[in-house]
Amino acid sequence: MSPSAITLDVVPHWFDGKPNEGAGARRADVFDPATGETTRRVALAEHADVDAAVASAAAAFPDWRDTSIARRTAVLFAFRELLHRRGHELAELITAEHGKELSDASGEVARGREVVEFACGIGHLLKGGMSENASTGVDVASIRQPLGPVAIVSPFNFPAMVPMWFFPIAIASGNTIVLKPSEKVPSAAVWLAQLWAEAGLPAGVFNVLQGDKLAVDGLLAHEDVKAVSFVGSTRVARHVYETGTRNGKRVQALGGAKNHMVVLPDADLDTAAEAAVSAGFGSAGERCMAVSALVVHESVADEVVVRIAATMAELRVGDGRGNCDMGPLVTAEHRDRVASYIAGAADAGAEVVVDGRDVEVDGAPGGFWLGPTLIDRVQPHMSLYTDEIFGPVLSVLRVRTYDEALTLVNGSPYGNGTAIFTGDGRAARRFQHEAEVGMVGINVPIPVPVAYYSFGGWKNSLFGDTHAHGPEGVHFFTRGKVVTSRWPDHGGARSSLGFPQND
Ligand code: NAD
Repeated sequence: MSPSAITLDVVPHWFDGKPNEGAGARRADVFDPATGETTRRVALAEHADVDAAVASAAAAFPDWRDTSIARRTAVLFAFRELLHRRGHELAELITAEHGKELSDASGEVARGREVVEFACGIGHLLKGGMSENASTGVDVASIRQPLGPVAIVSPFNFPAMVPMWFFPIAIASGNTIVLKPSEKVPSAAVWLAQLWAEAGLPAGVFNVLQGDKLAVDGLLAHEDVKAVSFVGSTRVARHVYETGTRNGKRVQALGGAKNHMVVLPDADLDTAAEAAVSAGFGSAGERCMAVSALVVHESVADEVVVRIAATMAELRVGDGRGNCDMGPLVTAEHRDRVASYIAGAADAGAEVVVDGRDVEVDGAPGGFWLGPTLIDRVQPHMSLYTDEIFGPVLSVLRVRTYDEALTLVNGSPYGNGTAIFTGDGRAARRFQHEAEVGMVGINVPIPVPVAYYSFGGWKNSLFGDTHAHGPEGVHFFTRGKVVTSRWPDHGGARSSLGFPQND
């Protein structure tokens, strides 16, 4: 069956190389955020489905682990080619369930594909080391081996890219997968499962388990799941990390964010204003690397706010499949939650410069709309600043010095991304050294690393010590073994109970 042929009333699980509607009758609605209509329903896993998904991955593991690197890589290359040719289908599916504008969805697919391309070089990445004659006649080699069935739990905001941060490397390294996508955007995972099947991946290597907390907790408790890669809110990331590690699993749990963009007086203000708009409102602010706190030196703050507001006036909000810059939010509930921060801003003492609730939209009246919003004179104690809002709301905080800006960045409980805009190399270099954040941009507002580096934040933005993709991804999905060997060329060695010494 071609991925383009799937139009499903119920978005199924995917076990043993085929769709499966699951053991129970629990379902959740899947919306088209641009119309507000329910377009599909997704199966929600019961315990029996968790067991079936993990059993499928466990059964496929021994053969996949023992498949040569050359054959595994051939499947990766085929998958990459299919994704390259048909990525637009996946982008359309993402826009239909998430709402993001189509070229943004295509960008997400392309960034995910970069990790597939990185994983195509797994032969190089899995190379171990060897010391010949470490002791006389004794060689020592280090190798890395896959873990077994691993679980990936992903958030709503990147239905394809976030799973692709993990599964290409995990699969290329010889592991088998159970992907639990967000129940808000469940179809991309099934599309990807079909694409893997077309690329020649054996049944059971890539499985999809649809569901909610029950599915996640089931995976965290299952003894055959060896590792968990989670991405989502900090609240759930902490739960996943604590539960998974308590159950003896390797866990990397990426959490929420509050990303600061610092603008110094010597910055190119046009560039900074453009960057703030694209990083604040791209994907309706529903990005973990979105800029939500703009920290501006007071000497240029008025000018920056005016330029940002002028750029915002040109943004078109509408159905992501049409001609627009920004789509709707993912659900009505989320839209209302984000809007509640705007409603409370003036009472809290901030100044609403552009109110997204007044936006004119090119789309159906029932869509989950909220326009770009700019709020000036936000103070650090306000919930506008302390909470992760995860919508198109940009807060401006005015500071008098670089140190004041740095105190804000480093005082945040989150540490995912940050950026500085300046024309002074020394200030930039100082910021790169001093910011307690995992990813830093210098005149780059969204510093998402390319696939051959690793992605991840600090503090409450990541629990665990391993970042996603790049070398750290290979490390996460493999474990080390050291082999010491000797091939005596004559028999008759005398046995000794002493501790071996090198000579
Ligand atoms: P979420 O935490 O609500 O859900 C993430 C996943 O966890 C989903 O698959 C969901 O079904 C599951 N889940 C939800 N509640 C659960 C519970 N109580 N127990 C177990 N599992 C549960 O996150 P979301 O709303 O889907 O995504 C947005 C969040 O993800 C934001 O906080 C954003 O910053 C974060 N995010 C972080 C990164 C990063 O790289 N750090 C990347 C993307 C998104």
